[in-house]
Amino acid sequence: MKYYERNDAQAVSVTIEKVVKKFGSFQALGGVSLSIQSGEFFTLLGPSGCGKTTLLRCTAGFERPTSGRILFNDADMTLIPPWEKNIGFVFQNYALWPNKSVYANIAYGLEIRKKSASFIREKVQWALELLGLPGIGDKMPEQLSGGQQQRVAIARALVIDPTILLLDEPLSNLDAKLRISLRFQIREIQKKLKITAIYVTHDQEEALEISDRIAVMNAGSVLQIGTPEDIYERPAQRFVADFVGKANIVPGRREGDAFVCSERFRISLVPEYRAQVPEGRSAEIMFRPEALREVGKHGQADQADMEGRITDVLYHGNIRRYMVDVGCPVPVVYETSIPHSIGESLHLAITHYRLYA
Ligand code: ADP
Ligand code: MG
Repeated sequence: MKYYERNDAQAVSVTIEKVVKKFGSFQALGGVSLSIQSGEFFTLLGPSGCGKTTLLRCTAGFERPTSGRILFNDADMTLIPPWEKNIGFVFQNYALWPNKSVYANIAYGLEIRKKSASFIREKVQWALELLGLPGIGDKMPEQLSGGQQQRVAIARALVIDPTILLLDEPLSNLDAKLRISLRFQIREIQKKLKITAIYVTHDQEEALEISDRIAVMNAGSVLQIGTPEDIYERPAQRFVADFVGKANIVPGRREGDAFVCSERFRISLVPEYRAQVPEGRSAEIMFRPEALREVGKHGQADQADMEGRITDVLYHGNIRRYMVDVGCPVPVVYETSIPHSIGESLHLAITHYRLYA
């Protein structure tokens, strides 16, 4: 095996135990606990200001937690500075040294580790090829596009064979098309190297596509941890449902075996939900725009959970997005490829929903 090929044994697991971080009297992290498996692509997802960067910087050692512990495998790394642990860190703004060539930027981490000149040459070459950047070693950062600069930054992070790769919104400064292609490249490289990766983003679509598991954060806390499917299909809280993907969230009330949102929107509850929302209690029902099915005006209309009139259509090519007035304070959003016109009446059944009490 060549020196740069890794196996699972070299990747580390990361355990974050009750980490609190205060800046003065402001609490940026309110006791976060997470377990990241070795070789896992783990994403911290949440709105701006929720504490993602702070948690990543604590993991790297750029910040010290106010309390709590961070372990790599079984070793307590809480107070170890970044330069004393073998981590790769990729910043949103690339952070390349402007006065060093691409080659010198990537080689720097190996030079300070006192590697031999021949080792450094071979290893930098390997990193440039890994990122699809052969032949640009002599260029200066300013001669490169944003996408190339970020790939150089990733090469620089990986060249030292880190046990963990930390990425803080690495694609946020790039245009949409490039973001998507680099997203795939990052995931491909991570799988190839079997390196543990912690990835920070506020972009829910990116998180769903790239991650093995996601932690959804808000206001310094983790609200839910799960696979992309868990997070999208079974959001544990209203905030998660609303933040990840598009969600219809409609208020209503338990009445007998049904949940009633309006005269034209009444759904019979499965037993699991009857236990969750007592008779007479208000709650919210959440369902995705694609979790609606037309049950026709004739014959099967009794299977409908709601009946309404289309008030607007947004054409998206692959789908049409309909606003449907079902007598609730907000229109229900329904997505399908079936063409309809404004003013048409629809009978819709919900195939999959959650209730938030
Ligand atoms: P995110 O990366 O999710 O956008 P951050 O972790 O950067 O959020 O910040 C979380 C909160 O902590 C924000 O309210 C931010 O203003 C605050 N914060 C971050 N770093 C500092 C600091 N060095 N001093 C004071 N407040 C900070
Ligand atoms: Mg941030």
